[in-house]
Amino acid sequence: MHLYGTSGVNERGHLEIGGVDTIELIEQFGTPLYVYDVELIRERARGFKRTFEELGIPAQVAYASKAFSSIAMIQLADQEGLSLDVVSAGELYTAIKADFPTERIHFHGNNKSEEELHMALDHKIGCIVVDNFSELVLLEEICTNREQKVKILLRVTPGIEAHTHDYILTGQEDSKFGFDLINGQAEDALRQALQSEWLEVLGLHCHIGSQIFQTTGFLLAARKIIGKLDSWHGSIGYQPKVLNLGGGFGIRYTQEDDPLPASQYVEEIVREVQNLVADTDLQMPEIWIEPGRSLVGDAGVTLYKVGSEKQVPNVRKYIAVDGGMSDNIRPALYEAKYDAILANRPLDPVEETVSIAGKCCESGDMLIWDLPLPKAGRGDVLAVFCTGAYGYSMSNNYNRIPRPAVVFVENGEARLVIKRETFEDLISLDLALQEAAVTNKE
Ligand SMILES: *Cc1c(COP(=O)(O)O)cnc(C)c1O
Repeated sequence: MHLYGTSGVNERGHLEIGGVDTIELIEQFGTPLYVYDVELIRERARGFKRTFEELGIPAQVAYASKAFSSIAMIQLADQEGLSLDVVSAGELYTAIKADFPTERIHFHGNNKSEEELHMALDHKIGCIVVDNFSELVLLEEICTNREQKVKILLRVTPGIEAHTHDYILTGQEDSKFGFDLINGQAEDALRQALQSEWLEVLGLHCHIGSQIFQTTGFLLAARKIIGKLDSWHGSIGYQPKVLNLGGGFGIRYTQEDDPLPASQYVEEIVREVQNLVADTDLQMPEIWIEPGRSLVGDAGVTLYKVGSEKQVPNVRKYIAVDGGMSDNIRPALYEAKYDAILANRPLDPVEETVSIAGKCCESGDMLIWDLPLPKAGRGDVLAVFCTGAYGYSMSNNYNRIPRPAVVFVENGEARLVIKRETFEDLISLDLALQEAAVTNKE
């Protein structure tokens, strides 16, 4: 049994998190329930920030809020002095409602609408990460009309794709994101942006992948980008203020995963950039990173009630829980793997191997294959670990299942930070046939 953060087994033999009994939590808030270990989120945030501070490097650690966006989460990110990435007007709206300082918000995305760009400019956000030529032209036009300056980063694709256990050099990268560094697009974009009196080009951005367990890909990306920046310094005289190397730092979902500590990712990246810059006429830029999963992933646990079971003779035993792909679509989408225990009796010995099924009408709605567990049945409570990133944020109402509630626990206190959806919420946007006005006739 691997426990994360402040998780432990209390004197009643129950799983507790943040000093709160998980069984009491479900009695109060029901199931499924997402529970976040706030102290662990703080610790993860401080791990990244502290290393930059110790190395004396000006930096921004921006929480990629797509991993889990909610008002309370964004307030927590603010408390920890993080910056914030948003990728849509909805995420930006959430950040604004959370009173997040807008000068620390960065706006990403490969197809920001005119409305989204206006909204970002209305709120004077910290920077816009420009993704392609059509956006560059649109933003410049909007800024000219508004007579408003904006800071931008140019997102580049350095021709490196990092995966969990390796990285791939892709040369001309076939990606929907960013300006290609190798074929000259990035240089053209920089020249074009530098001509605008409204755009201030802070520097370059890249994001090479997700759930990455090594530093090689980041170092290689830094090498390629700084090589280009050095040559542009000679040809255009451009000096970047910022180098943003994105997110993608891996976490431990199961025992197969072996991530590095935040300090090691940061330290190796900083040293490499320092060494590379030392060989050029460039000044050391600020380093920005954008962790999402690694800030909130292992701080989240989902609690489910066990329901029915089905034995397929000589094949396997299925145990079904009261959620599934509606609250965690990652197993169905990416064959993501998770670990789980019984929260009401975590210390009982393992007796059998079962597969955990969701309750949605899809054969692919399986949460965990081949999980060793004590003999479990109706009334038991399953705790699935590491559901804090891309769980709630990808949740949906398939089969009209209401979205679960989210609870923050810390120092023995539980706070409901997202209410459970009600059936009334589910139909709140529906209009009955007799009240649905005909809109295409005079
Ligand atoms: C998704 C994303 C991140 C965060 O990725 P994680 O794997 O959650 O750390 C950071 N930057 C950009 C541009 C992204 O698209």
